[in-house]
Amino acid sequence: MALRNLLAQMTDAITVEQDVPLDLEVSKVLMKDQTRPVMFTNLNGMRAAGNIWSTRERIAGAMKIRKEDLIPKMLEAMSFPSAPKLVGDAPFMDDVRTEFDLTKLPIPKYFPGDKGRYITSAVAVAEHEGKRNVSFHRMYLRDERSFALRLVPRHLYTMWKSMTARGRDLPVAFTMGLCPPILLAAATSTDYGTDEMYIASSLKERTLGTPLEVAKIDNGLAVPAQAEIVFEGRITSQMVDEGPFMDITGTYDSVRPAPVFEVDRLYMRKDPVFHLLLPGGYEHYMMMGLPREPIIYRTVNQVVPRVHGVRLTEGGCCWLHGVVSITKNKEGDGINAAMAAFSGHPSMKKVTIVDHDINIFDDREVEWAEATRFQAARSLMVVNNAAGSSLDPSSEGTTSKVAIDATKPFGAKGFDRAVL
Ligand code: MN
Repeated sequence: MALRNLLAQMTDAITVEQDVPLDLEVSKVLMKDQTRPVMFTNLNGMRAAGNIWSTRERIAGAMKIRKEDLIPKMLEAMSFPSAPKLVGDAPFMDDVRTEFDLTKLPIPKYFPGDKGRYITSAVAVAEHEGKRNVSFHRMYLRDERSFALRLVPRHLYTMWKSMTARGRDLPVAFTMGLCPPILLAAATSTDYGTDEMYIASSLKERTLGTPLEVAKIDNGLAVPAQAEIVFEGRITSQMVDEGPFMDITGTYDSVRPAPVFEVDRLYMRKDPVFHLLLPGGYEHYMMMGLPREPIIYRTVNQVVPRVHGVRLTEGGCCWLHGVVSITKNKEGDGINAAMAAFSGHPSMKKVTIVDHDINIFDDREVEWAEATRFQAARSLMVVNNAAGSSLDPSSEGTTSKVAIDATKPFGAKGFDRAVL
């Protein structure tokens, strides 16, 4: 499984042959039609691609499954993680440099208010005290050899804090040009110590039949062998300002202190493909939102007899709004499902619960269910003063959450759509 081979099969891709300015112009090209992949054959002298994983269909297609099977397969992979296969050689080892200039890479400035040029598609691999972590972090390009990293206080942050407390840097690798099993696994929210590389390998094995291959780089970290580009280096204790940066909600995230990532070695495949991930775009929605859906599925499944589907909706940035379809067993199941959905994804602030006959992938059908099956006086739940997403500009420290139970009253007649 290699990104370049999957790209070659994407017959609806748009090819851009002329060099496009990295400053805002790349974003304009990607935003024209976000449902179609864009291949730049010469972006600042390199191949680059964007909008690659911007639809559920293409993500599922790369794993040879239907979009409805993404959640069950991800749940299986999380329940039964399995070891990746260590290989001795990887294509990215073809070109290894200790002398390089990162500013020569096709790293765009995506939006006018951004601090500068950012890599948004790279997945970090780190190990600390026998535990491995794999996660996404945006990378602000500082100079020829370093980035500033946005580290949300989670697992990589914990590893880095622990190392810097001892006066040492945290060895890390940032990998780019990966395929859906590892991209989805890197964006899951698991316990500290759960190795996302094992989830990725299990997901790949359960969909495509073979484990994920990893190869060791100079600092001893095993990284996905399929990577097009690998940045090997250290997260240091040096802090600099990071942001503003336009994030998933389409609004600017604030300026915060962020650690510096010093790059020591750059690995590249021959003629590498640089992955452009448009912030706040459909591909960002998919990469960030999709891996939350199985967690929501699992929590809702604990409180109602049957869950049929979960979708974080594009209108809600695939982060703040969701819809869940269930089979009710008794009155009140819809509200219980909503409470479970909120606990499964604490950033969610609106959830709509529908019956099994509603196609959750069709926003009009979901609204039809709200229009014909829902009465606010009976089935609206508002929860105030809850913790929500820091990315929501309307939240004021805490957030208000709203649940719409648009399921039919249990056992009631007259709610089914007439069919011919
Ligand atoms: Mn983790």
